Amino acid sequence: MAWLLSTGGINESKSMKKITIKNRSQEITSPKGMRDLMNEEYYSFQGFFEKAQEVAVYYGFKPIETPMLEQEEIITSSIGKGTDIVDKEMYTLKTKGGDHLALRPEHTAPLMRAYIEHGMQTMPQPVMFYHSGPVFRHDKPQRGRYRQFWQFDLDALGSEKSIMDAIVIKTCMNILEEAGAENLSIDINSIGDKECRNGYIKELTSYYKKHINQLPSVDRERLKINPLRILDSKEEKTKEINESAPDSISFLCPACKKHFKEVLEYLEEMNIAYNINKNLVRGLSYYTRTVFEITGQGEMENDAPMALAGGGRYDYLARQIGGKKDVPAVGVSIGVDRIVAAPWYKKLAPRILKKPKIYFIQLGSEAKLKSLNIIEILRKAHIPIAQSLSKDSLGSQLAIAEKLAIPYVLIFGVKEALDNAVIVRDMSTRSQETVKLPKLLEYLKELK
Ligand code: AMP
Repeated sequence: MAWLLSTGGINESKSMKKITIKNRSQEITSPKGMRDLMNEEYYSFQGFFEKAQEVAVYYGFKPIETPMLEQEEIITSSIGKGTDIVDKEMYTLKTKGGDHLALRPEHTAPLMRAYIEHGMQTMPQPVMFYHSGPVFRHDKPQRGRYRQFWQFDLDALGSEKSIMDAIVIKTCMNILEEAGAENLSIDINSIGDKECRNGYIKELTSYYKKHINQLPSVDRERLKINPLRILDSKEEKTKEINESAPDSISFLCPACKKHFKEVLEYLEEMNIAYNINKNLVRGLSYYTRTVFEITGQGEMENDAPMALAGGGRYDYLARQIGGKKDVPAVGVSIGVDRIVAAPWYKKLAPRILKKPKIYFIQLGSEAKLKSLNIIEILRKAHIPIAQSLSKDSLGSQLAIAEKLAIPYVLIFGVKEALDNAVIVRDMSTRSQETVKLPKLLEYLKELK
């Protein structure tokens, strides 16, 4: 495809042009920071998604899936300039037709776009969705940080009630706990609404201006575009300055104060431990009122804890992306890659993964010809099997059955194919019996 891919600040189009089909064979790798999911890791993901969906459904969330590409403008107008995602991490492309699209760096703005596009404001409010899939950020790959990673999101759109913040947090906590996380606590803050935030930002700006000479250049730049971002700066010098920075909670208007108090009351009622973190603002510019982050304890052995999930209220996002009305909403994004890699992850087994009790062996062309019919009889009866149909000798097939420690073997040879029968062999006692095919399911059901 003649799409031109570019990422903020990094000109990959040039290097892409250099790659010819010839030298490609020397570098057969997935793109940096992106990987193939397979084997145990695939099952870990699938098991997590199944459990997360199950919990979400119990709390009233319904599924939705949005495209991986969005109009670039939807992403930039929602997440906002002055954020790392928009300034540095977007994967954008121009189609042959001239559309400017972006690979989604998160699920919230696409969801709000879908809500507006499908006129969901006419449905009973709030509408509650869970959604998941890969998201893309051109960040520096490192421990727990990929360029393609998976998020599982929960969102409630169309209500400003504090209990919606609580249901999103509670459902998220339950999902993390079902996945094996223990002793979770949530960092929470309120950054107010348009009534009170302006006053706060003014105060914050004047505070940073007083310290401008000590501020690192990256934070001086942020001061011009998005001073709130300085609060979660990773710069050591800024961290010191932040210790005495004014906090947003002191500037909350009565309505925001009430909302925040109610959210905390719900958390207390549900025995969810929380820590009010006045420096928590979250990277994206669409947040209002509640913002929160959940950090696991020791999710990687000998490593510093990392954020597992983050979210908050985004009451003005709808207008930011061009909607005619505000849609009060709240949501959370759970980072799936970090959960399934954590030492405490329970290894939730996906439902399709069945441990086979039977190994199917076929011998001779007559038997091989009919073998798929027998496997189909077993599948319809929900009897999972293992097989190596490409093999021909009894010895090699038996060896695999033994290696896999499968308790029973079905042997289907030339004689059995003619007699419409199969040999059932108990691998522990080595005893075996010939069973007619019409009686096979009944016979297998009796086996322990
Ligand atoms: P965010 O959308 O940045 O609030 O992220 C929500 C969650 O996604 C975080 O708490 C992390 O668990 C996860 N996450 C964010 N960025 C990455 C990344 N680059 N690689 C893997 N997981 C990530």
